[in-house]
Amino acid sequence: MKIRDIKTTLLSLPLQNPIADSTHTLNSIDWILVDVYREDGLVGCSHMVTFDYGRELLRGIVDYELRDVVIGMDPSLIANVWQACANRVEYIGQTGVAAWGIAAIDIALWDLLGKSLNCPVFQLLGARQEQVPIYGSGGWLTYSIDQLLAEMNSYVTQGFTAVKMKVGSRDTLRDVDRVQAVRKAIGPKVQLMVDANQAWTPCQAIEFSRKVRECDILWFEEPIQKDDHDGYRTLSTAMDIPVAAGEREYSLQAFRDLLERRALPIVQPDVLRVGGISRCLKLAHLAEVFNARVASHFYKEIDIHWMAAVSNGLFLEYFPWLDPLLIHPLEVKNGMARVPGRPGLGIELKPEAIQEYRIL
Ligand SMILES: [Mg+2]
Repeated sequence: MKIRDIKTTLLSLPLQNPIADSTHTLNSIDWILVDVYREDGLVGCSHMVTFDYGRELLRGIVDYELRDVVIGMDPSLIANVWQACANRVEYIGQTGVAAWGIAAIDIALWDLLGKSLNCPVFQLLGARQEQVPIYGSGGWLTYSIDQLLAEMNSYVTQGFTAVKMKVGSRDTLRDVDRVQAVRKAIGPKVQLMVDANQAWTPCQAIEFSRKVRECDILWFEEPIQKDDHDGYRTLSTAMDIPVAAGEREYSLQAFRDLLERRALPIVQPDVLRVGGISRCLKLAHLAEVFNARVASHFYKEIDIHWMAAVSNGLFLEYFPWLDPLLIHPLEVKNGMARVPGRPGLGIELKPEAIQEYRIL
């Protein structure tokens, strides 16, 4: 059985008010759906989130570069398709936009394989557990203190036992105040993480970490620029708070360098940037050799499958944005998300939501 076609669909959900972290302002949540069709009509599905950045490029790499490569290939030979796509883009570069396209196809093929075998993907990958810890993410820098506390408290009310907020303001003292306010509001039992989105210098990060020492921070995410591996090494020895990073990395070699330097106790792959479910598994195994933990970035419905199949998974990240489009949003109870038992990835979008938000 061969791949007959690939189709992409662009959805856009406007935000009532733009939100921002230290590096980006987001005006809408845009999704690109990537559907891979087998000859018999069975479809494997994946999706990318682009906000309002580069959506035509991301869609175009699938439609204009990779589609012709994979049509006619056997979809059950996932590694084979992955390599053919990687070979195709070697000249223009296998990272950046190209990596997103390869990953989207890889994810859709895992979904297709699961559906064809009537088996959830996490079981195909060698399941270890049926639930994965999950934390509520947000706490945007554009929020007033009242909005920030309301969002963090609402996660706790919904049953989350861990939450993450943005830091990385120009004035580090503003963030110290906000972190202290959140810790006070959520109490001592809820775990709290902070994310600076690469905003600070190592000195600023160390200063901040000292000022929030009493706030019991579980991890400090992307405190400094992602390529400053020496800086990450410095921070991992100078700060009491464990450092986490990796959502902007494309290559396993970059992770290996950070791990070899003992610069990163928590690695955070983005499944679209790192090359799909196949590559996330490899990265988790690589990190395990260095006694590092893995916390996935953003794509909870996809990540839950490979995270449930590795022994060093720490947390899934929860944003609510896809939930209104889903027939079965992830079930979260007492800080744990249950892996769907439906065939494939178990992600089913409401047809009426696709109609409502479709722009291309
Ligand atoms: Mg982050």
